[in-house]
Amino acid sequence: MSKARRILIVEDEVMISDALRAYLENAGFEVFAAFDGEAGLSMFEELSPDLIVLDLMLPKISGERLCQEIRRASRVPVVMLTAKSAEGDKIAGFSMGADDYVTKPFSPRELLARIQSILRRCGDGISPLYSRMSWNDGDLEVNFETREIKRRGAPVNLTPNEFKILSSLVKYPQKIFTREELISIALGDDFDGFDRTIDSHIKNLRGKIEDDTANPRYIITVRGVGYRFEAASGRSE
Ligand code: CA
Repeated sequence: MSKARRILIVEDEVMISDALRAYLENAGFEVFAAFDGEAGLSMFEELSPDLIVLDLMLPKISGERLCQEIRRASRVPVVMLTAKSAEGDKIAGFSMGADDYVTKPFSPRELLARIQSILRRCGDGISPLYSRMSWNDGDLEVNFETREIKRRGAPVNLTPNEFKILSSLVKYPQKIFTREELISIALGDDFDGFDRTIDSHIKNLRGKIEDDTANPRYIITVRGVGYRFEAASGRSE
């Protein structure tokens, strides 16, 4: 059985948030609510949600700023929720990295349909916001549409599990993944191998994408915890 998808609602109007939470929970999602931008940011970092519903007009950190902060760290889908309905605001929302935009007053049913369609598009959890990402001036390149990996322009063959692990790490570049999380996210909850199975996948993956596997540049070991992806030199298109 797969885990319920997590949705984070960042909305300061409690009545809207509560109604939305009930509606989404009823549709089978695991729902978390933050009531200002600051709480939204820390819950985003803590929970690694599968999708964020984000109000624009928020106390402490505005929805615009929050969306930009989130985009610096993650490709997680963002649906903006706002009373602003001018065309210019919509365009600004998309340029900040939102995946979709719903204007208030909205029907929860319409929002749910949009959420489901975005999550379907994302398939295994990878947002199609960028179709290609590369690091260190093209040293490593991941194409999420074709599922191709290249090193200095030359194709690299990854197994499906290796691709899932790499794309999960890339999706949340600042997050430290525990082995259990990588198993659950990349290999699925019904996987019955040992935690250390992840280590051997990581070892093989490093052999394919790192110059020096003893001194990795991309997949960094966080001692006693797990792994993270070093994305400082990243570009997306
Ligand atoms: Ca608001």
